[in-house]
Amino acid sequence: MNPNSPILGIDLGTTNSLVGVVDSGFPILLADENGSRSTPSAVCIAQDGSISVGAVALRQRALHPTRTITSVKRLIGRRPGEAGWTPPYSLSELKTSPVEVSAEILKHLKAVAEHALEQSVSQAVITVPAYFNDAQRNATKRAGELAGLEVLRILSEPTAAALAYGLDKLSEHQKIAVYDLGGGTFDISVLEMHDGTFQVLSTAGDTQLGGDDIDRLLAEFIAQKLNLPPHDIRVLEASEAVKKRLSTDDTASFNGLDITRADLEKIARPWIERTRIHCLRALSDAGVKAEQLDEVILVGGSTRMPLVRDYVREIFGREPNTSQNPDEAIALGATIQAGILGGSLRQVLLLDVTPLSLGIETFGGLMNIIIPRNTTIPAKAGEMFTNAVANQDSMLIRILQGERELAKDNWELGRIEVPFPSGPKGSARVGVQFSIDADGILHVLARDTATHQDTTLQISGTAVDVEDERVEQMISESVDFAFEDMNERIWTEAKLKAEELLPAVDAALDQLADAISAEEKSAVVSQAATVRVLLAATDHDAKALKAATQLLDEATQSLAVMLIDRAMEESLVRRGLV
Ligand code: ADP
Ligand code: MG
Repeated sequence: MNPNSPILGIDLGTTNSLVGVVDSGFPILLADENGSRSTPSAVCIAQDGSISVGAVALRQRALHPTRTITSVKRLIGRRPGEAGWTPPYSLSELKTSPVEVSAEILKHLKAVAEHALEQSVSQAVITVPAYFNDAQRNATKRAGELAGLEVLRILSEPTAAALAYGLDKLSEHQKIAVYDLGGGTFDISVLEMHDGTFQVLSTAGDTQLGGDDIDRLLAEFIAQKLNLPPHDIRVLEASEAVKKRLSTDDTASFNGLDITRADLEKIARPWIERTRIHCLRALSDAGVKAEQLDEVILVGGSTRMPLVRDYVREIFGREPNTSQNPDEAIALGATIQAGILGGSLRQVLLLDVTPLSLGIETFGGLMNIIIPRNTTIPAKAGEMFTNAVANQDSMLIRILQGERELAKDNWELGRIEVPFPSGPKGSARVGVQFSIDADGILHVLARDTATHQDTTLQISGTAVDVEDERVEQMISESVDFAFEDMNERIWTEAKLKAEELLPAVDAALDQLADAISAEEKSAVVSQAATVRVLLAATDHDAKALKAATQLLDEATQSLAVMLIDRAMEESLVRRGLV
């Protein structure tokens, strides 16, 4: 076995199968000699025992319907009759089995890959529906082995789709739904993502619902209008072509008949509406409300239909994520998993600069940047902090990532509690150091300089490995909100200052009650009142608060001068010098 040979990612679909590989750090799907990246999951066993696979096999269907095997995935790992579906062929008469037929499809995909890569391959990751039981998974694995592939992992299709959508790279905890409408089956799964691993919370669906049903109904519609036999395979194939065209065009024609998207939608709607109940069931089984989902992703060729997208939007009350090619997402995810297993994907995941700033939350909820964005790694930087309140005996350090001025708008990567001896405000000295090593791991060290006690935290990956899209979003938000953010920062700083000044002013006025004129006093009192009114206002007028606080600060300074003068005077009087 060649240790350098790549691991294949395979979507062994009911209708179509695809194969991919990570090449130079990028997952790509491989095309056959005709340039097609998708192989129909069809196998034709001719009278003489010769076997054809894919588009070639499908072309035999019209001539040899009982010798052309399609949708064998519905039968794999099941006992006879268990599938609840009667195929138009008999595997026993053809002296074959679902595992052997699947092995033929896999052999074909292996050959497509070997031809494209000009090298032999022997290992693969293969996807199966989330609801496949042990018997079905084992049968799929056996099919791989029979095709000469060591199956390193059997991966659930919705998990593969989530990988393709890059959802594993988001740092936080997410819940997602994967709506997969293929050729013959509908699957809906709810997944939970935690630290880059997925758990399928629930799965539901209909194994007899898919694009084929729509093709059949459209064929009946067309056949009736054109007076053709409705079950003719050519009418059926033409109907599929018309249906696909109507995903992008408003009309399509066949034999002089114009068919509009509205015609198709009228036919398809009742079928598509049947997916609703399964979606609701999956949500309720998972104990998740539609609005709690972070993403709804679309998978399967039939989700290219605008009607399906509209309907999914209606069911989940949100815009579905369509950033990936729906009929390639599962194969792409299998390929990504293969790349991760083979170690060839690490390269692309690790960038060598920090995509976003790293810092900590400071008093007042502001972001204090320690390592700015775009710093090349490895990198190290630190700052000294003190206690903002007297008699504090610990400080909570929240480690943040992002470009926003307020801590709450950035992402929290972790938190550590640093203990120190309690004392007056400003007495503690806590040094915080961030260092990112060459592997992108962020080490946070907090040291109380008095006791030399260290508290440390390690944050792996997330400091450097952030999905491009999220980085862009964070940066564009920081630009969009620059004005409001800056306003909030000025406000918070002025507020902290005001909160420090107001008690000092009150104390000084008390002590100087008899030493200053009524006018002086009322000027200071009214300035303090202005600050209090601005502080209490909900509209956060940062400029006004800053100006008013500055005036109060000046007034306080003159009070402080007066207090000093008065103290000197008293001391001179006491010493009998005046
Ligand atoms: P499976 O998972 O069952 O192997 P696929 O995800 O490959 O299936 O989906 C195949 C189905 O998608 C077929 O019914 C096909 O007609 C349909 N399909 C593919 N492209 C389009 C399109 N552009 N518009 C509508 N349906 C499409
Ligand atoms: Mg599929």
